[in-house]
Amino acid sequence: MESAYIGIGSNIGRKIDHCKRAISLMGRLEGCSVRVQSPFYRTEPVGVEGQDTYVNGVVRVDTDLSAGTLLNCLLEIEADMGRVRRKKWDARVIDLDILLFGSRIIKKPDLIVPHPLMHLRRFVLTPLLQIAPDLIHPVLRKSMQELAGLLPGDGQAVETYERS
Ligand code: ADP
Ligand code: MG
Repeated sequence: MESAYIGIGSNIGRKIDHCKRAISLMGRLEGCSVRVQSPFYRTEPVGVEGQDTYVNGVVRVDTDLSAGTLLNCLLEIEADMGRVRRKKWDARVIDLDILLFGSRIIKKPDLIVPHPLMHLRRFVLTPLLQIAPDLIHPVLRKSMQELAGLLPGDGQAVETYERS
């Protein structure tokens, strides 16, 4: 059994409903339970221009699945929810990323864990901090709290989600 942290994001349509639906579908996976859920945040797109804002959150799942099987299940949930992959960092109905899988370090062509950009993204670290501030990044050997403290002060606006 491992605890894995999954990053959730949506920037098309009813974004928060997409995030909630994805969490409920994760909870229905055999050998996988959603244990902790972060608050949701409204965030500025990072790395691209002209996209709508995102809703982001993070959950902890406890799972008997391997990381590879978990990834396949997440990709299947994305596809079931109507995600169409066009180009990298395109707008998406739902994005599910494995941020951490216990303290495993995985470097496969189709799966890199810890997620290689997680420590640079405020939209990942802010929700993660809420549910696991003392968790240690197995490669960088720093806590989520420490990593958040290293982010540059400007850019990457992240605010608590309030329904408007
Ligand atoms: P991104 O999340 O970077 O915007 P995508 O969601 O389109 O990109 O992911 C494309 C591919 O990234 C997936 O098919 C998967 O094989 C690969 N990938 C590598 N590492 C991870 C990870 N830790 N979590 C999720 N996908 C990953
Ligand atoms: Mg992804």
